[in-house]
Amino acid sequence: MPSRSLHVAVIGAGAAGLVAARELRREGHWPVVFERAAGVGGTWLYDPAASADLLGAGAVHSSVYASLRTNLSRECFGFSDFPFIADEGGEGDGDRRRFPGHQEVLRYLQEFARRFDLYGMVRLRTEVVSVRREASASWRVTSHSTSELAGSGGPVEEVFDAVVVCNGHFVTPRLNLAILCAGIGSWPGKQMHSHSYRVPEAFHGQVVVVVGYATSGFDISRDIAGVASEVHVAAATCVEMQRTARPNLWLHPMIERAEADGSVVFQDGNRVKADAIIHCTGYKYSYPFLDEEVVGISVDDNRVGPLYEHVFPPHLAPQISFIGLPFRVYFFPLFELQSNWVAGILSGRIELPSQEKMTEDVAEFYSKMEARGCPKRLTHDFGALQFEYEDWVAEQCGKDMMEGWRKAMYLAARKNMVDRPENWRDEWEDTHLLSQAYQDLTKYL
Ligand code: FAD
Repeated sequence: MPSRSLHVAVIGAGAAGLVAARELRREGHWPVVFERAAGVGGTWLYDPAASADLLGAGAVHSSVYASLRTNLSRECFGFSDFPFIADEGGEGDGDRRRFPGHQEVLRYLQEFARRFDLYGMVRLRTEVVSVRREASASWRVTSHSTSELAGSGGPVEEVFDAVVVCNGHFVTPRLNLAILCAGIGSWPGKQMHSHSYRVPEAFHGQVVVVVGYATSGFDISRDIAGVASEVHVAAATCVEMQRTARPNLWLHPMIERAEADGSVVFQDGNRVKADAIIHCTGYKYSYPFLDEEVVGISVDDNRVGPLYEHVFPPHLAPQISFIGLPFRVYFFPLFELQSNWVAGILSGRIELPSQEKMTEDVAEFYSKMEARGCPKRLTHDFGALQFEYEDWVAEQCGKDMMEGWRKAMYLAARKNMVDRPENWRDEWEDTHLLSQAYQDLTKYL
């Protein structure tokens, strides 16, 4: 049984913050969720406006583009006890696809917040600007209103027993340094980061270079190929130029240099004269409200650390924690597991190892990465490794391991993306896994 009931500040009301609030309350804590936007949903709260600085984040949080469809199927996407089923005849736009559009995910999150009565805990239009540790081991959280109607109300300071950081990490653009150094400064065309990409129309009839071929680069290059005259993708995994199934979409190795006459030269010597470059090069973790010097948590080449199991800084555990840092994962189920772990540790139901043991563990993890030649920026990159991690967190929480069908569906979808790059979301071969998924999920309907 929980022994401690704490007053907890949760920063952010995206998927991670919402499920963290639910798990904390279920455990007997008193969460307050700070959310600077006017609604819940985080990155799924589509914003048609892009940042004024097309290579920066500005005040725009969401990186979602108009045509975005999920890259996980509904069965795999949702929280464990709240299946992501289609809105049958409800207020939604009737998107019943297995890999639905972004509006459907927002609807799901809003429904989740209603179903578990979370809205009462969320302070909308309230931005956390500073989180400081007090001598008493509590946390002073300073926030201010982002409402234009708020008048001159100044910052508000409050003290909490613990802080759970859920501020999202697909917001601040990360640019490829090698490309930035290769003459791009004097290149005359238009440049933007995928954070600011919304719709393809502006690229009508143009020659566009897309840098990066992970999820956003893959989708955006196809979105633009529908209107552009040519799309050239510079992919780290490509060794020489290849034509794709689309007649106006090519794959190239990375960019060698950009020239003042508008040319873009690839590493295999091929060149194109382009009108625009879209950098789909990922994002940087950012915690502007945490003073690195004071709190001792840094972001070094996109490694947030030191963190025990990607959640707790050993020297401050468990009073501050981070939910949702891993990427290439089942985001929502992972947020739920991590949140349950944090809630259970804060209440005393679950024990953490000693600070020394956690510190050793983190050091060992980092040195293993280094020995494998794995750069720091991939510290939180999981892919298929996520299953081992999720099972480990589930075990800490006393929960069942993640269902086998979820794991199998993840791998089947990745394979399908390679086998059917043009229509992998609408044609699949994992039907045999669906009956198991439905058997498991219908008990929550
Ligand atoms: P966010 O959703 O980013 O929420 C963070 C919240 O914190 C925001 O509401 C923000 O306003 C708030 N906030 C930040 N700073 C402060 C502050 N100082 N004070 C107060 N509030 C603050 N995942 C999938 O599972 N499937 C997909 O198909 C998929 N596609 C994606 C496509 C794109 C383009 C992107 C960017 C992400 C995609 N993801 C996908 C990953 C997605 O980020 C996660 O699914 C998830 O929604 C992230 O939730 P989060 O709560 O961690 O962060």
